[in-house]
Amino acid sequence: METGFPTRLEDILARIDAIDPISYGKSRNFIDGDVTRLSPYISRGVISTRFVLEKVLEKSLEKGYKAQQIEKLIQELAWRDFFQRVWQSDPTLIDREVRQPQSEVAHQEVPVAITRHHTGIEAVDMGVRELYNSGYMHNHVRMYVAALACNTGRSHWQQPARWMYYHLLDGDLASNNFSWQWVAGCFSNKKYVANQENINTFCYTRQQGTFLDLSYDDLVHMDIPKELKETEKPALDVHLPATTLTRIDAFKPALLYNWYNLDPFWHRDEDVQRILLLEPNLLSKYPISERSVQFMLELAGNIEGMKIFTGEFTALKKRFPGSRFVYKEHPLNRYQGTEEPRTFLHDGVTGYHSSFFRFWKKLRPLLFQARYD
Ligand SMILES: Cc1cc2nc3c(=O)[nH]c(=O)nc-3n(C[C@H](O)[C@H](O)[C@H](O)COP(=O)(O)OP(=O)(O)OC[C@H]3O[C@@H](n4cnc5c(N)ncnc54)[C@H](O)[C@@H]3O)c2cc1C
Repeated sequence: METGFPTRLEDILARIDAIDPISYGKSRNFIDGDVTRLSPYISRGVISTRFVLEKVLEKSLEKGYKAQQIEKLIQELAWRDFFQRVWQSDPTLIDREVRQPQSEVAHQEVPVAITRHHTGIEAVDMGVRELYNSGYMHNHVRMYVAALACNTGRSHWQQPARWMYYHLLDGDLASNNFSWQWVAGCFSNKKYVANQENINTFCYTRQQGTFLDLSYDDLVHMDIPKELKETEKPALDVHLPATTLTRIDAFKPALLYNWYNLDPFWHRDEDVQRILLLEPNLLSKYPISERSVQFMLELAGNIEGMKIFTGEFTALKKRFPGSRFVYKEHPLNRYQGTEEPRTFLHDGVTGYHSSFFRFWKKLRPLLFQARYD
């Protein structure tokens, strides 16, 4: 399946080499901006934010770029870590409002015009078609879609967030759910709205007279437009592959991989067993599409000797008693065995921060220290 997201490790590393942080800083908000398209690999744990940071800093120092010139990209990587740290600070936050309840909620479904891409807002409809065709959506379009669903259509954030997560190859519960909450005003001071003029600027459309062609003041106070009145709860079915794991050697550690950890460098060249654990309960609570499952299996192909176990961790443990499981820390993991840390941009700033800028204020000096400032 061609998605524009290769799965061979060499191609992924080449994508990192191709980053132009200066062009990124100038263009990222535009639909054709020079974005990295690395999120599916970062979310799947193939590469870490620190790995990308190191490569970008290395190249920037070589080329003599100044810290301010490359800061935008590093700040975006930090947004990802910010959300991960919030989730890590309290795993239950992923399913509930972080700062305050969403106001003016009319229902718990998703406007049909969004899921069937006929809102009439061209950039949004194109974005949803791209999501269905490739499993990717530009950040600005994600914000427009979320604003349309939650703030114009008055959906509670949870169902539309679940629908988007299902289709994204980079589906990550922290970045996704917290961004939806940020747009819906549950993890920010106010709701995010964008009018047609803003959308036209960043997506090069020329639409006028749409239901979003209003001033910001009118947009905030408008009733649900007729275009967004019909709603649904999208069916999000999950299809998992069959188990291929038949035996575990109790004398060797058994490394556990999953939807969030497909790190090909993890204990590389060591004599261990490698198991891709697909837990049906978790994957039906937070469903992922068939394309995402395929993407995960292809990425797992970068890791030699990987076997699949489709079942709960408790079933794996019961079937192979005496096994020595090793896994990476992650808020979704409820395994038993040896836990190893995940890699972040920096280990010096952890825990909950109520806003990105509080987090960034502490993190920035640590990232640039000794190299730049
Ligand atoms: C409603 C909504 C839902 C989202 N859902 C997800 C999701 O499920 N998974 C996901 O990885 N990102 C999500 N994002 C964040 C962001 O849209 C994507 O990370 C980004 O578009 C990925 O494209 P890129 O790799 O080209 O990003 P680039 O712009 O090239 O950025 C480089 C890296 O920085 C990180 N990053 C950039 N922007 C953000 C951001 N706003 N928040 C967090 N990290 C960021 C990503 O790891 C990204 O790969 C969501 C944003 C919104 C508004």
